[in-house]
Amino acid sequence: MFSESPISRRPSKRIMVGNVPIGDGAPIAVQSMTNTDTLDVEATVAQIERLQNAGADIVRVSVPTMDTAEAFKLIRQRVSLPLVADIHFDYRIALKVAEYGVDCLRINPGNIGKEDRIRAVVDAASYNNIPIRIGVNGGSLERDIQEKYGEPTPEALLESAMRHVDILDRLNFDQFKVSVKASDVFLAVGAYRLLAKQIEQPLHLGITEAGGARAGSVKSAVGLGMLLAEGIGDTLRVSLAADPVEEIKVGFDILKSLRLRSRGINFIACPTCSRQEFDVIGTVNALEERLEDIVTPLDVSIIGCVVNGPGEALVSDMGVTGANRMSGFYEDGVRQKERFDNTNLIDQLEAKIRAKVAKADPE
Ligand code: SF4
Repeated sequence: MFSESPISRRPSKRIMVGNVPIGDGAPIAVQSMTNTDTLDVEATVAQIERLQNAGADIVRVSVPTMDTAEAFKLIRQRVSLPLVADIHFDYRIALKVAEYGVDCLRINPGNIGKEDRIRAVVDAASYNNIPIRIGVNGGSLERDIQEKYGEPTPEALLESAMRHVDILDRLNFDQFKVSVKASDVFLAVGAYRLLAKQIEQPLHLGITEAGGARAGSVKSAVGLGMLLAEGIGDTLRVSLAADPVEEIKVGFDILKSLRLRSRGINFIACPTCSRQEFDVIGTVNALEERLEDIVTPLDVSIIGCVVNGPGEALVSDMGVTGANRMSGFYEDGVRQKERFDNTNLIDQLEAKIRAKVAKADPE
């Protein structure tokens, strides 16, 4: 029930990664990367399907060798999500996966080598309508840039990115997006801010090697949140040392927090205290798990008592306010006559939410 996000997005060109638009006001695409062995086609397909069920718009797959390019071909045939091939250095792999239906090449033109090889990759990308992602990482800057700046700085990341951008500009290829990731929030944010002013292409956001599930999610939320709040960013990946499905969930949670994109239930829940009339934490945890399959956006407030319950319920699509034995229930900001028995609150609320979703989205 909350209004649109007050954030105005940075204007940018638009590229298409398969059927997913990136930039120029398109919804911010959420992506992740497989961590299976790409040669294990079954495992990789299964992981991509799990990511798709979690809401991923795009999935990146490592393609480090010619053998994996052959595995990629089989994977491509079996999944519907747009796939990005992650390639470092070997231009022949890029040509192969372009032939096999890749939707985006993550390759830095400056690392390909001789001019004729760069041209071959760019020609293949143009011919097949495949965009490129230039990906600069604070941990792997070119040696001369490291020496010039002494340490990774936003300016150093920008200079590295612009080397690759200039190559594509020279070849009249504008179907690309750029990332300048770093594991340090200020370094990454500084680099993206500089880049956002310098080019018109869409930007792929990420705080790289952010850490484990909890600390990495917080770090990503802070870094990506700073940029997104300024309107910077057209697609994102949260990098966690965790199941890639978590990356998708956290990515959507970040976008939901800024009202940039919604998917599924947005729970508003109080931190609980001794006033709570039912087990708020247990209820939220149970419902988060039970309702993972729902994609329709819905704000649901679950508040333990009347101190904050009615206020939150009034601005939610559905709300519960804890009361002695029988909790109050609100729908579309209106208090309902019906009350929920606290001993059976989870089942009752789940049924109400599912009924509301079915009505809103009969498909
Ligand atoms: Fe405590 Fe009520 Fe506040 Fe929840 S809403 S934290 S139960 S006072």
